[in-house]
Parts: sequence; structure tokens; C-alpha cells
Amino acid sequence: MNDREPPFSMIVLLVDDQAIVAEAVRRSLAELSGLAFHYCQDPRQAVALAQTLKPTVILQDLIMPGIDGFDLLQQYRADPLTRDVPVIVLSTKEDPKVKARAFALGASDYLVKLPDQVELIARVRFHSESLINARQRDEAFRALRQSEHQLAERNIDLISLNQKLEKATLAKSDFLANMSHEIRTPMNGVIGMTTLLFDTDLTGEQRAIAEMIKNSGDSLLAIINDILDFSKIESGMIELETRGFDLRLCVEEAMQLLAFKAAEKELDMVVLLEPSTPTMVVGDITRLRQILVNLIGNAVKFTARGEVVVSVGASAGAKTGERVLHFSVADTGLGIPREKQDRLFQSFSQVDSSTTRQFGGTGLGLAICKRLAELMGGRIWVESEGGRGSKFNFNVLVGQNDFALPAWSQAPAMLRGKRVLLVEANAAQCRAFAQYAAVWGLLLTEVPSLVAATAALAVPGACYDLLVLDTGFFGSEVAAGVARLRANAGAAAVLLMALRRLRAEEVSAAGMPVVVVKPLRPAQLLEAMVSCVVSLPARVKRPPAATPFADSLAARFPLRILLVDDVAINQMVGVMMLQRLGYQADVAGNGEEALAALEAKVYDLIFLDVRMPKMDGYEAARRICDKWAGTDRLRPRIVAMTGNALQSDREKCLAAGMDDYISKPVRVEELKAVIEQCRAAPSGSAS
Ligand code: ADP
Repeated sequence: MNDREPPFSMIVLLVDDQAIVAEAVRRSLAELSGLAFHYCQDPRQAVALAQTLKPTVILQDLIMPGIDGFDLLQQYRADPLTRDVPVIVLSTKEDPKVKARAFALGASDYLVKLPDQVELIARVRFHSESLINARQRDEAFRALRQSEHQLAERNIDLISLNQKLEKATLAKSDFLANMSHEIRTPMNGVIGMTTLLFDTDLTGEQRAIAEMIKNSGDSLLAIINDILDFSKIESGMIELETRGFDLRLCVEEAMQLLAFKAAEKELDMVVLLEPSTPTMVVGDITRLRQILVNLIGNAVKFTARGEVVVSVGASAGAKTGERVLHFSVADTGLGIPREKQDRLFQSFSQVDSSTTRQFGGTGLGLAICKRLAELMGGRIWVESEGGRGSKFNFNVLVGQNDFALPAWSQAPAMLRGKRVLLVEANAAQCRAFAQYAAVWGLLLTEVPSLVAATAALAVPGACYDLLVLDTGFFGSEVAAGVARLRANAGAAAVLLMALRRLRAEEVSAAGMPVVVVKPLRPAQLLEAMVSCVVSLPARVKRPPAATPFADSLAARFPLRILLVDDVAINQMVGVMMLQRLGYQADVAGNGEEALAALEAKVYDLIFLDVRMPKMDGYEAARRICDKWAGTDRLRPRIVAMTGNALQSDREKCLAAGMDDYISKPVRVEELKAVIEQCRAAPSGSAS
């Protein structure tokens, strides 16, 4: 054991008046390396020496001149510097009383002089080791307590810092919200007033200046919105809404917002919803539209010519009732080099500072899109090669609790079987149109150019009811181009699809065709198709744009007419047909509304649909008859206008008090006959 190097340094202090003992002990311990031996012959100096030497063991004689060993023991134990130093008492004899007293006063051990070398070394070692271990343990505890303390202090600091930060974040968000409101209010003034300015008489120069004001206002507003939004998302203050909404409408609204800018650059804008997409979904329409507006905005911004196509598809989600919507916004613009794509979705990052100077922007748009897509349970990514356009894809999770068909899919029967020649070069546009045409039961022929259109019209026996033309083919010569095609198109009605709103003189020069402005929306397209088809019989008989019955009927038989129907398209058809006869009809959406209208105004003639929500036509007719019964007022004449075409239906209508009956689809001639009949047999006089 002695040959082992101790891992610690031992310091031994021997207090004994006999030098000979000291010499013997020193020799005994000499073999122990790493040990420092100190000898104190004068017991009165023992405590002071122990205080300075800091021994790991004290060897203490008991009987000494001048001071008693027991007294010394007590002094060691009373002094904080020596309190825990082990004391081995060196006694002259093995006496239980002495031993007991020594231990009672704090001795750690007891040996009889002169002790055996092995035993002495072992005990010195043992006690030194214990002391050192105890000191190390105490030191560790102390350090631990200290770091605990520091930790606690730091925690308190952190908590208060956190509270300060939370306060600061709230203050920042409040500030941003206030500021943005404060800035937005005057901005709305600027933008709104500039818009009003456009409706006043402006010189070309004034208009150009006003446009610049409006554009700058719009850009400033967009930047404010971006910054506000980003800080809201960053501070976790965005809460998603879960509300049912019409998916197509959401995409179309986003497109519509940028249609004007796209039209300025003559970009074709197409919305393609795959048949798999649900009509109504549950989610956050505002945030979804925001992503779309951002992506479509970028697509328009970075595309000089060509198209922007927004496609939407859907697949089943992981949970029942959950759907994954897949969106893509593809353009034919600048494109983004592969090596720069990973930076795209980071905040404040723009691919190329030179494009920034050219196009402006904060570099926040895509970062916001990324976070919003992630908030909605999806992700966003890009496919692009420099120079070849970009395709931004993203998906989001939505709920689906409704399998309703979209309103535009219920087209009036008059469209079914109509032969349509579509002249359109853009493949995506053709695909979208073909989708609607299939739903409406149109017989569609597509051609990609004017040459092909002329050829298609020249085919012997070719006969089209409707010519749908993209005005892009004609450049600024819309009227001349339409006239040329029309010459070969027989009695076909013409529907123009234009990138921008056409001027009144252009439309009249082109023979008053119906015009829809791109991006195509099926609801709007359907209205346009219906108004084309309504005018067809007239066109067959007379030159285009003539109104065959105008002046005549309404001038001869002025009537106040109320049209009651719950379907918007039917209302429109009815109103337009009556217009052709010179009448301005009022419209009600059901029986209740009809009764209310009759309270407010006098009518001579009511066209009354039968099947309607809230109050149907039979009930409405009965109430009207009751109301007028026994009065001497002239009851308005009631004509049923319904899709039920059986003889029994007719009888039911008459039984409910109606005066006459026409079935849908209504023809102008029939309307005319009914009105003439109205004059011949005025209200309430029918049997
Ligand atoms: P900004 O508000 O500056 O447009 P974004 O985060 O929306 O910020 O876009 C960041 C950058 O990504 C743009 O500055 C542009 O360089 C690039 N980028 C985004 N969309 C397109 C795109 N459709 N075609 C080409 N580059 C694009």
C-alpha cells in the first residue's frame, strides 16, 4: 500500500513535547510519499500552527507541560479553521476512561505510543482521505448551491425579461395595428378619391397622373399590408378561420384582383378547377386568397407575355371529411434559376437585386405564403428553370361537409344542344371552356386560329348557333375582325372574350356582340351565353342588334310588370326578353317578396314562377286574389311562368287564381301574346 502514490497531499501535524517521539513518528511516516510532516513541540503554539498549516491530520499527545492535550482538543474543535481536522490522540496507555474522554471532546482516533508503523500509516491515510473527501464534497455542495442560486437569479431575470418582451411584442403589434390603421385610413382616401377622379372629365395628362397616384397608393398599401401581416404571423397572432366558402369564387376573386394588371400586359389568365375539387369547403378563405393573390401577383409581375394559369385539384385527406387542395400558379415569365430557389421563401429575400429595382417589392410575399400554407397544414414549393417560367405549388387542408353542385352548373335548358364554335389559341383557356361547355350540354368545336375558324365556317353544311371569339386575334381591329368572321357565320350570335373591357363604340361598331371580360368565370360566361341564345330567333329573322319588338309593344301597351322567380338566370332571361319588348320589369325572388312589392307599388301584370322557396306561386296567387276580392280596385293580371308543362299544371295554376299560363323556356312570341291578351282581357276577368 505504501508504494502507491496517494492521489492527494497529506499534511500531518504532530504535537508532542518529546522530540524522540517526534523523530520516531517522522521515520514511520517517511515512507509515505506525498506527505508533509510538521512537528510542534510547544503545545501553546499548536492551535496557531494548525490554523496556518491546515493539516489533514493532527497527531496529538495528551500529557504535556503547560497545557493539557484535552484542552487543545477542545480548542481545535472550537476554532472554525480546525473544527473538522481529524485528531488522532497519541496516549501513553490503553485506558478506557481517557479514551472515552478523548472521543467525547472530539478526537477522531486513539493510538497508544509508539504506534505500529503500518497501523499509523493506515490511520493517517484514512483520516486524511476522509477529510479531503469531505472537503471536496463540501466544496461540490457549495458550488452546487451557488450555481443553483445563480440559476434561480438568472431565471428571475429571464422571467422578467420575457415579461418585458411579451409586453414589447404586444406593444409592437398594437403599434403596427394602430399605425397600419392610421396609414390605411388616409391611403383609402387617396386611392378612393383617385378612383372617383377617373369618373370625371380628365385630360390625357391628368388621367396619366391620376393613374400614377393610384398605382403608388396601391403599392404602398400592399407593402403596409405585407409588413403588418408578417409581424402578425411571426408573433403567432394569426388565428385561422373555419368557415364554409365557395372555392371557385375564392380563386376567381384572387384572379380578378390582378386581372387589370394582367390585361395591361395582355396576359391570358385562366382558372382551371379539376372536376375533383369540391364546390364548398371549410377553412380560411381570406388566408387562402392571400396566398393566391401573392402568387398570381408575382406571376403577373415577372411575366412579360404569355399566360398565368391557376389550377386546382383535390384529394382525400387523412381524416374523414378532410380534403387536401392542390394549387398551382404557373406563368410563362422570367423563371427562377435553380440555385436561387432555396432562398425564395426566406423573409426579406429577393432573388436578384436588379429585378428588385425593376419590379419593387419587399421580399416578404413568399415568406408569408410559406407560413400561411404551413399554418393551414400544407407546404409550398416551386418548379422553375431560369427563362422558362415558374410554377409555384402549394397545398392546404380544408374540410368538406357539403357536396352541392355549383350554381352555374344548372344551366337553362335553352343552352342544351347549341352548336358553338370556339376560336381561342390558348390551350388552358380552351380546356376551361370545354369543361363548362360539357356541363351545359353545348356541342363544342374548338379552333386555334382565325384561319381555322374561317375554314370551319366554310365547311358545307356547317351551322353554328354561337361564335365565341377571343379578341386577342384582332389586335385593335376588333370591329373589322368580327365583321369579317360574321359574314361567314350565318345567323350565329357572337360572343367576344376580351382581355379588357371594350369601349362602347368598339362594341357598337362590332355589331353589338355580347362581351365577357377574361379571366373567364363560368357564372358570368353562362349569363353571357344565355343572353346570346335569347337573341337567337331575332337574329334569324332580322339583322343583328335590331330589337324586333322594341317601341311597338310597350309603346302601344304600357304596363307595369313584376317578374317573380327565384333563379337568378331565369330572372335575367325574363327581364331581358321583356326589355326586347320595351318593358322594364321589376323582380321578386319568391311569393313573399312579390306580396311586399305589391304593397309598395302598383302593377298591371305579374309573371309568377310556381316552385319557389318561402312562398310558392300557388300560395302567392291565392293571397293576391284574396286581397283584391271584394275591392273595386283592378287586380294585376297573374300569368304563371313555370317549368311544369303538363295540362294538369296549367289547371292547378288557374285553380289557384292565376289568369294565364306560359311554360319555360319562354319564347318572346309567347310573351308578346300573353301581354296582348292582358290588354284584351284585363286583370281578374279570366274565368
Ligand atoms: P416581393 O414582395 O419582393 O415580390 P416575394 O417574396 O413575393 O417578394 O418574392 C421574392 C422574389 O422571388 C422576387 O423578388 C422575385 O425575384 C422572385 N419571384 C417570385 N415569384 C416569381 C415568379 N413568378 N417569377 C420569377 N421570379 C419570382
